[in-house]
Amino acid sequence: MRIISCLSLILLMGCKGVQNNNKLLIKNAQIIDLELKKIVQGHLLINDGYLEEVLTGEIESNSTIESIDLKNKYILPGLSDAHVHAFGNIATNGYRQNLNIEEVSRVLMAYGVLNYLDLYNAEDSIFKNRTKSRLRNTLPEIYCSGAVFTCTKGHGDEGYLEPRIADDVIQAREQFGDLLLKKPDVVKIIYDTQFRSRPSIKKDVLDTLIKLCNQNNIKSVVHIGTWVDAYVAAKSGCDIITHIPSGIAPDSVINMLKEKKVSVIPTFGIQAGLYNISGSKSPLDDPYLKRSINDSILMGYSSEYLKKYSGFIRWQETNSRTIHKNVQKLDSAGISLIAGTDAANPGVFLGYSLLTEIDNLILSGLDAWDALASATINFSTISGKKSGFNAGCEASYIVLDDSPVNSMQSLRNIKLIINKGYVIDRASLDSIFSEISDN
Ligand SMILES: [Zn+2]
Repeated sequence: MRIISCLSLILLMGCKGVQNNNKLLIKNAQIIDLELKKIVQGHLLINDGYLEEVLTGEIESNSTIESIDLKNKYILPGLSDAHVHAFGNIATNGYRQNLNIEEVSRVLMAYGVLNYLDLYNAEDSIFKNRTKSRLRNTLPEIYCSGAVFTCTKGHGDEGYLEPRIADDVIQAREQFGDLLLKKPDVVKIIYDTQFRSRPSIKKDVLDTLIKLCNQNNIKSVVHIGTWVDAYVAAKSGCDIITHIPSGIAPDSVINMLKEKKVSVIPTFGIQAGLYNISGSKSPLDDPYLKRSINDSILMGYSSEYLKKYSGFIRWQETNSRTIHKNVQKLDSAGISLIAGTDAANPGVFLGYSLLTEIDNLILSGLDAWDALASATINFSTISGKKSGFNAGCEASYIVLDDSPVNSMQSLRNIKLIINKGYVIDRASLDSIFSEISDN
């Protein structure tokens, strides 16, 4: 092998889809180390998709190793979204972009998302796509729950998808055993005692499912609706809760989450997305979002259709009064936050909304390092993979012109993606946007 210039290597790999299973040297990078909270000037030696070594100082050219020169651009771990439903973006008139799971994955990747957790989908297709995502380094890696556990007529049993119904403990055990055969990465349980007028699974069913998860070493993710739900789920031994209830979180709940080492996926997206669209500064005017949506989506958010969601928007407005304070309380208590959007629900957009999620974490008082960690390395709680810049970490990175620690705007300017050691250039990401926005 000979050394190929930076540009020609990128073109070669980005356009022709050549797999890189050998060594790759990423030279002259400003490495954003989110664990140490510092930026290190150095070079990354990648071997078979994993980081072998971080080198510093001058390096000698080695003609046997392919290399790219980042010329002092910034590199950080690929973004992750811990709460996705892998469908096309939807408008308030019900119009949905017609995307299959692979196309959804590609949109997410165009925004820098290299790992995501799907928390409710059609089981056969999501598990099939998960397998595919792990064999290919041209796609982000999928983690998934399959369906969700709920009760008859509970949230999740609206008729759009087929849930795992657990009306009693016996049914919970049966359904869990059946799901286990498909090897879910997490189990999602809906325990929401205040979801509109819908019933929730019973507490003994919640306890049973969490116990089964713990016995089988599978993470449990509990969708909660109130702070009491959060307390009950944490006390029962769940690993993660998702959503931030309205009202200020009582200290007793914060203490229980902390004591039980529960992580939280806040989902500002589903809790403020439509409220923001109905306000004066709508994300629908943002050119960066417009890269992945079409006119049908834009028209589907006109005021006549938004009106249909007025009750939900009012709830979002109420929730928005306390959500930042609550996330700040969780963060100050040292509770791990994992960024997740709840895309593609109305007002929550694939990939794009993860950037809003990071902005909202900063509005809640997190520093830039911690906000970035929540959307990158904290995902390891779900994936079990090491991520970052220690030897043995998966070599999945995004390369940026400017430091996101100074301004999150730089996340909108991805120069290059390295996915498990495979280089994807800007032109490839642009072509994803142009293909998808036609859908
Ligand atoms: Zn969801």
